[in-house]
Amino acid sequence: MTISTSPNPSFVLQKVNEVSFEDRPIPKLSSPKDVRIEIKQTGICGSDVHYYTHGAIGSFIVKAPMVLGHESAGIVAEVGSAVTSLKVGDRVALEPGIPCRYCDHCKAGSYNLCADMKFAATPPYDGTLCRFYVLPEDFCVKLPVNVSLEEGALVEPLSVGVHVTKLAKVTPGSSVIVFGAGPVGLLCCAVAKAFGATTITAVDLVQARLDLAKEVAATHSYVPVKGDSAAESAAKIVKMLGGKAPQFAIEASGAGASVNTAIQVLAQGGSYVQAGMGAPEISFPITEFTVKELTARGSFRYGPGDYQLAVELVASGKVDVKKLITHRVKFDEAEEAFKLVMKGQGVKILIEGPAPAA
Ligand SMILES: [Zn+2]
Ligand SMILES: [Zn+2]
Repeated sequence: MTISTSPNPSFVLQKVNEVSFEDRPIPKLSSPKDVRIEIKQTGICGSDVHYYTHGAIGSFIVKAPMVLGHESAGIVAEVGSAVTSLKVGDRVALEPGIPCRYCDHCKAGSYNLCADMKFAATPPYDGTLCRFYVLPEDFCVKLPVNVSLEEGALVEPLSVGVHVTKLAKVTPGSSVIVFGAGPVGLLCCAVAKAFGATTITAVDLVQARLDLAKEVAATHSYVPVKGDSAAESAAKIVKMLGGKAPQFAIEASGAGASVNTAIQVLAQGGSYVQAGMGAPEISFPITEFTVKELTARGSFRYGPGDYQLAVELVASGKVDVKKLITHRVKFDEAEEAFKLVMKGQGVKILIEGPAPAA
């Protein structure tokens, strides 16, 4: 196939470490409330890369060819007969997971916990690295005129950061520590600042990422010293913060050492949220956790209002997601772009297009 003339070119993971471009049929609206979107910008996420290189994340296993990508923005190309909030030509950020809307979690408003979630590029569901993608209108968030399609693609990881930071219940004037300065960690720093946190500490092994964290929102940064125990790292961080332990910890790396340092570093009564995924099991400092009476919870994707707030944070200038964009490539170069991410290069790589069919 030729990408430029294909009606719906799609970037497909065939099996572990094997991708190709396929000409997929143009998807049809499945309900009068659906819209068809022409994809314009897509960010590459760690999860896309993980499926590419491992073929699975936990119990989600790639068993059939799957279109990659879930961080997208585009332009509405067709609207169903019952669509009221969007029209052809509108620019939208795509919230790429459709819950069943009927189960107890959906009815309680925690639709991200829906067991029947159909999430883009999570097997067996196809992702958004294609020309056309169909979503219900209420999972498309219209972009204000001052928000670009590039920024629109970054609304997905920003929504993850919004969800995490909401769950942590970060308060104005507080001190927040974020472990892991990848895209989600960086965006958690930015959201924490937008929520009024005044001390934001980023922790990462890579100095360049910490430099970016400071550019984005962090007031302090820390590189763990090789050989230090979690308690030693925590003591050094608290010293750096003038003796004041943070009240909120967000773990966005998934590394066991970070989890341990977070529990060690938190103030009494502090709040801990796990956002990163790493080794499935780790050792955990249960005594420290108990005697400080910490609150801990997990965070998964995003829920009601998170996408809308993310767009609002970008539109109001409170969060500058553009700072995270390190590479821009064309749709034809998607494979090369994934290889860059695998080599650990860049922070957020955006894939433009595919261009309209010739
Ligand atoms: Zn993602
Ligand atoms: Zn449900």
